[in-house]
Formats: sequence, C-alpha cells, structure tokens
Amino acid sequence: MATTLAPPQLDKNVTDFLSKPRKMLLGGKWVEAASGKTFETYNPATGEVLARVAAGDREDIDRAVKAARRAFEEGPWPEMLPAERSRLLYKLADLIDQHREEFAELETLDNGKPVFFSRIVDVPTAIETFRYFSGWATKIEGNTVPISMPGAKYFAYTLREPVGVVGQIIPWNFPLIMASWKLAPALAAGCTVVLKPAEQTPLTALRLGELVMEAGFPDGVVNIIPGFGETAGAALAAHPDVDKIAFTGSTEVGKLIVDAARGNLKKVSLELGGKSPNIVFPDADLDAAIPGSAAAIFFNQGQCCTAGSRLFVHKSIFDKVVDGVAQATKTFHIGPGIDPTTNLGPLVSKEQQDRVCGYLESGAREGAKAVVGGHKIAGGGYFVEPTVLVDVKPQMKVVREEIFGPVVTAIPFSTPEEVATFANDSIYGLAAAVWTRDISKAHRTAAKLRAGTVWINCYNVFDSALPFGGYKQSGWGRESGHAVLELYTEVKSVCAQI
Ligand code: ADP
Repeated sequence: MATTLAPPQLDKNVTDFLSKPRKMLLGGKWVEAASGKTFETYNPATGEVLARVAAGDREDIDRAVKAARRAFEEGPWPEMLPAERSRLLYKLADLIDQHREEFAELETLDNGKPVFFSRIVDVPTAIETFRYFSGWATKIEGNTVPISMPGAKYFAYTLREPVGVVGQIIPWNFPLIMASWKLAPALAAGCTVVLKPAEQTPLTALRLGELVMEAGFPDGVVNIIPGFGETAGAALAAHPDVDKIAFTGSTEVGKLIVDAARGNLKKVSLELGGKSPNIVFPDADLDAAIPGSAAAIFFNQGQCCTAGSRLFVHKSIFDKVVDGVAQATKTFHIGPGIDPTTNLGPLVSKEQQDRVCGYLESGAREGAKAVVGGHKIAGGGYFVEPTVLVDVKPQMKVVREEIFGPVVTAIPFSTPEEVATFANDSIYGLAAAVWTRDISKAHRTAAKLRAGTVWINCYNVFDSALPFGGYKQSGWGRESGHAVLELYTEVKSVCAQI
C-alpha cells in the first residue's frame, strides 16, 4: 500500500463541519436527539473518529414523521406550483455544485472511497439527479380515459398525486448519490420525506440537509434523522403514519422492511443486493473487456450492489482474461481515499472488512484459489487486497452470496446457452454485462438474462433517465427515470357524468 503523500489540505468548510457534533434536521430545525445520545462515525482510512452525530431513535422518527405530515397537509408545500418545486430542486442542485469540493472530501472521509471518484462520480451524479428531477416536477401528468358505460355521457381522467409522507432508508456505499436518488423524485412528485442515512456514513446527507434549507424548501418537507438501522430505521419502516417506505440496502434487511411495512400496508420499494454476472465471449474486444471487467468488480472497492462479482469467461480465453484482470490490480494505487492519486481505498468499516475476509477464508476452505490478493492489508485502515478467485464451484458461498468487497470469482464456460444458465443461477437479478463484438449474440444474451439492467460492452453506466432496479430478490420497483415517479405517486381516477 502506498501512502507516500502528506495529507492534503482539506476544504475549510469540511474542517468546520467536522469540528462540531452534527444534529438532525427535524421540522426545519437542527436539533439533538430526544435522548441526547450521539454516535461516532469513523474515517475508514485510519479507523479514527471523524465526527459525532445525533443518534435518532423511535421518538425522533415519530416527531419527524409528524413534521413531514404537517408539511404535506398544511403550509406552503401542498399549495406550491409545480414550477416552484422545480425551481427549488434546481436551486438545490446549484448549491451542491457550488460546494462540489467540500462534498467530495466529506464523502471520501466518511466512506473511504477515493476522492478522485467522489469528484467525478458521486458529486456530479447527485447534482445531475436533482437537475433531472427538477424537470419532472412540471411533467407529472394523468390521462383522459374513454368510458363505455351505456346510458349517459362521462368525462373521466386520471391524476397523479403525491403518495404522501415517505420514509427513505439508504446505505453507506454511495451516501450522497443514494440521498439524491431518493429525495429528488419524491420532492418532484410533491411528497414530504423522512430520510435516514446509514450509521456508517451520515455526513454528506446532513450537509445536504443544510443546503435543502438554504434552497428554501419549507420546514418539514425534508427531515434527516441519522441513527442506527435496528432503532431509527426500524421505527421509520414500521411507523403507522408513513405512506411509503423506499429502501436501498441488503436483501436481508429488505425482508425486515417488508415485515415492518405490513402494519399499515405502506407502499414499499426496495433496491437490494446482487451477484451480477459479467460475461466475456471469445469474440470480445479484450482491450476493453479486461479493464472493464476489473472496473466492474473493483470500482468503489467492490461495494456496489451491481458489482460484477461473477466473471464468466469463455474457456478459450479464460487464462488470458483472468491474468489480465489480476495484472490490472497490480496497477492500482491503494491508499487513503483523500490522497488524489488513490484509486482503491479502504472498505467502509471494520465490520465490512471482517465480513469480506470471512468470505476469503470460506473460499479458501472450500478450495478456491486466489490468483491475486486473498487477504486484508495490515495497518490502521480497513483495507482488503483486490482478489481474483478461480477453481470455484457453483455451490460455494463465494459464488452464491453477495460479498460486497473487492473479490471476484472467475468461472469458465463453453456455450452461450450454458453461460446464460450459469448467470441466472442466483437468487439475485440486479445487473449483468456481456462483452462481445457479435451484435446478435449480445442482444440474444441480454434477452435471456434475468436482470434489471444489462450492459453490453460497458459496465456501471447509470443515467437519471434510465430505470434501475432488480429482478428476483434484488428488489421491488425501479429507481431513476419516469419509472421511479410511479413509486412516489398515487393514481386517482375522476369520473364525471356530463
Ligand atoms: P449493509 O449490510 O450493507 O450495512 P444494510 O441493509 O444493513 O446494509 O443497511 C442499509 C440501511 O438499512 C442502513 O441505513 C441501515 O441503518 C438500515 N437498516 C439496517 N437494519 C435495519 C432494520 N432492521 N430496519 C430498518 N432499517 C435498517
């Protein structure tokens, strides 16, 4: 691991932000937790305490839901013209834009990810998400509907109305992007929100909350309650006055959310885990497929729900591709994310490092061989070596379960039919990729894959306009695009005899 550079000077706003305990945003005010409790968030590159944050719990969630309900039913928000909501969202995007560097550094310090990527992926994606959904606020339309009931004339139409008070629970892998993917469509649709960031990475969501207020959103429209999943998260998912819960995280917790939502049958959308197949055919452009396959797994230290964690390579090029991906790991600059030359940082937490290492041990026990990597990296931070495993069998845990770390299993195949069967042999169905120069084979394979997104000759390409979500146990509903607005609106049919 190379840690040669002196720590760079941090943006002054970042040092100021970290110097004070952070409160929660509730009803337009920054307040401490009702219990007075706080928790610590850590810098994953060093294991040192980064900041102290109010620990929201049931009572805070209840107060936040009441504030969101009030803001949904009274005051300026329900009266606001769609064009005004649009302007607020655009203003919020501009404010993030003005604080780009600050957000990039804060995200890196809290999550561990290379600041190189925070600058070119996380922050710009958040900005573009708010801009994209700003446009939708004025374009949420219903239909007119012909009625065939005899005996009278009718005029019928549909309205798309906001679903109401929305609870949103987000994970730690892309904290700012996840906050923007959740907030932007909900606000465009006219909902009010209680957002719970992940306990590992609450900071950028809290800074975003300050800009939400600066942009001029009315009090209570956006409430941000940091806290733990089992307390604040569970209380939000179960709250009887929350109309909809939107969750991104593990499939295991997704099932708890479904159970918790049962009481008042709140609407549920879930973006969950994955074990995405990345398929390299023998006619692929290997100059693109090899670095593309390395990026597919190692981007964000493998902590992506879409990570290309099952690499299927045609047997005629298996050794070449596996060797290429292994060699790519040797070019990585592994180190603290805040070093601008780092392109592989630490994992988010000690817990995650232990979890990933547990999978590495299980793989070794079951007979998998590490072509490269295979261990954690000693030192203060939560680093794990980028790892390529071969000699894996379909029933091994490293092949079946989501590792959420920089670990790929490489598996040879013979025919397009065989690899489609292998690829679909998973409880997950979030994403997949195909590398080939044969356009027919690419689309035929895309049609066979049971996945919400299929990339052809590329990987991890996202767009605010492109629906994203999972088949099978990878989730319910879609993020982004027109599709997500359906999750934040109810359809009302109005029928008049004329
Ligand atoms: P990971 O395992 O990757 O940490 P989780 O699914 O546990 O992902 O966490 C994603 C989000 O879900 C976090 O905000 C976390 O606090 C929250 N969470 C965890 N457990 C629960 C729960 N029982 N109810 C509601 N939210 C939860």
